[in-house]
Amino acid sequence: MSEVLALRKANRATGKVFLVGAGPGDPELLTLKADRLLKSADVVVFDNLVGAAIVALIPARTRRIYAGKESGRHSMPQAEINRLLVNLASEGLQVVRLKGGDPFIFGRGGEEIEELVAAGISFEVVPGITAASGVAAYAGIPLTHREHAQTLIFTTGHLRDGSLDLDWGALARPRQTVVIYMGLAALPEICRCLVDHGLPPETPAAVVQQASTPLQREVMATLSTLEQAVATAGLQSPALIVIGGVVDLHSKMRWFAAAAAQPLATAIHH
Ligand code: SAH
Repeated sequence: MSEVLALRKANRATGKVFLVGAGPGDPELLTLKADRLLKSADVVVFDNLVGAAIVALIPARTRRIYAGKESGRHSMPQAEINRLLVNLASEGLQVVRLKGGDPFIFGRGGEEIEELVAAGISFEVVPGITAASGVAAYAGIPLTHREHAQTLIFTTGHLRDGSLDLDWGALARPRQTVVIYMGLAALPEICRCLVDHGLPPETPAAVVQQASTPLQREVMATLSTLEQAVATAGLQSPALIVIGGVVDLHSKMRWFAAAAAQPLATAIHH
């Protein structure tokens, strides 16, 4: 075997991909492990959902690759991202693949790992705080509560071929909380279908934008008023929809004021 080939083979054995969850936005919600890996990686491949405050933690010497990913906007196709991860690790690099929230919750982390397995690349997965947990804590909406909900459903409202293909019967049951990721564009249809399938129109429902960041904003309404309230407030993606009795607890349990978070962050930089 030539020296170059031997070197390549050895490198391939040491290259590794760390699929890391970045949490909902506040850098302090990163795990210690995520922080350590970000600081020791050779290259970080990150998504649009990863906020600037977290990207700023990556050392200047570290190569950064933006993989985009925002519904409706052109970004690197998934197959290309998968190939990129395999190629970087094959060069012997320590690769951090950084994703918003948790990599295994609506993050296509599974697809990326499948590709790594097929290519014989070693990997580790680091969980992150998923958006639903971020929203629950920072908007004061406990997702379960013995009085209100014993079942919790995470689903996605992402439109596939322009229509929503959800199990409405299962989503419209009483005494449960439904959390919908990527659902803002389909919000009117979601509210209408849930009422059509039996949830009372006065069921509490919320939309929370950019939870845990200075741009957090939230609207608390009901299934019948949510669409109008969100339009009036001008909330935008990334935002989570939460439906169920627990939403009412917000009035009692809210503590986070995004407007107050901003001057604090600014003060630290000065
Ligand atoms: N893997 C991520 C979810 C990726 S899907 C996770 O575990 O959180 C992207 C969707 O997540 C967005 O459309 C939005 O619905 C939700 N989301 C992510 N971060 C959010 C945040 N800080 N506040 C509200 N919703 C968020």
